Amino acid sequence: MSISVDVLDAFNGKLFFKTAWEYNLEDVEKFIDDVVNDMQGHGVQEKWKSAVKEIQDYIINMKPRHPDEAAQSPRYYPNPPQYVYRKEDTETDPPYELDPKTVTNHQVYGMYDFIGFFFSLACAPTDADTENFFAPWLVIYWKWSKLFHVTLEEKKDTKKLSLDWKPLKLPTMLQCTWREVTKGSKEKADAKEIVFHMGASVGGHAHKEKPFAEYGRVSKQKWTQSIVQFRFNLLADLGQPTINGEYRFMEAPLYSLTAEEKKLPEERKEYLKKTKEKEGWDFGNCAETYPFLEIFSNQGQGQTIGVKYGGVAIKPDAMKKVMAKYENYKTPIITPPCENCSYLLDSKYGCGTFNFLPPQVEASSPPPPAPSPSS
Ligand SMILES: [Zn+2]
Repeated sequence: MSISVDVLDAFNGKLFFKTAWEYNLEDVEKFIDDVVNDMQGHGVQEKWKSAVKEIQDYIINMKPRHPDEAAQSPRYYPNPPQYVYRKEDTETDPPYELDPKTVTNHQVYGMYDFIGFFFSLACAPTDADTENFFAPWLVIYWKWSKLFHVTLEEKKDTKKLSLDWKPLKLPTMLQCTWREVTKGSKEKADAKEIVFHMGASVGGHAHKEKPFAEYGRVSKQKWTQSIVQFRFNLLADLGQPTINGEYRFMEAPLYSLTAEEKKLPEERKEYLKKTKEKEGWDFGNCAETYPFLEIFSNQGQGQTIGVKYGGVAIKPDAMKKVMAKYENYKTPIITPPCENCSYLLDSKYGCGTFNFLPPQVEASSPPPPAPSPSS
């Protein structure tokens, strides 16, 4: 993919792409403050207005700082260091549990998710598309998230206090899902609105604290597992332990053989099954979790005469090259949805995986099956 057009502004024309690109942490905090103080001017949607200040507080309170400050400051500082809200409980194993916060009608626990919510407060410009808006702003989402990370210098400093940052799990994928709604009547279809939501795959938590083998099909840590289960539950059917009445936790298309694979010889099938169990992942793990939740379960108000959906995903790994210099924002490598997300799109939400493929793949007809290189 190559972006040949200029990037459209965000937040109701109040944030220019190049400016956002050059922001340091102080600038970002100042901008978040500006949005809190002038929601109307920054195009904050009505449904988010009551949550903006909370989102700001949850982001700022989680900002890493020296543990010595902890006594004087209300800021949250877990040890081992993490970018998630959690409660200590020495009776349980792992000895803590998530302490999620309610943002409008959803439970949110982690820094990347809160920053994703912040980025999604205003509508996109009505002529926004993958190339001129969603992909480049997804790069900024990750760039800003990284600004909230502890610096190397700070890491060295916390070493004296025997805080180990190494076990921190980073997200492996970032995603933006959008919904374009045309409002009005058949005679007058002029009011178009594009809402979007950005999110990250599971991450921000310390994931090497208590290795274990007995839990689950693969040797994942209980803490990671409990976070993924929390995210699975967000996607689950109302009051049910299932996704779309079909998959329970630790069951997923990525763990299962396809109809074609089931026809293979027994030995080959066994091998494939083992590989998938080892390399697959659960519903809830993906960056699409909050974006799908927000875009597909909040359908908006008013008379609509047309709804279109779309999405774009980029790996933080691919972002490294993109972020190395400004001009590179034009060439991010877009990743198609995994099998779990394709299942959600096609079978649960009926939105069509083809709307979420990278532009050059989308152009071919009919759309090829989506590969699943990562979560
Ligand atoms: Zn996925």
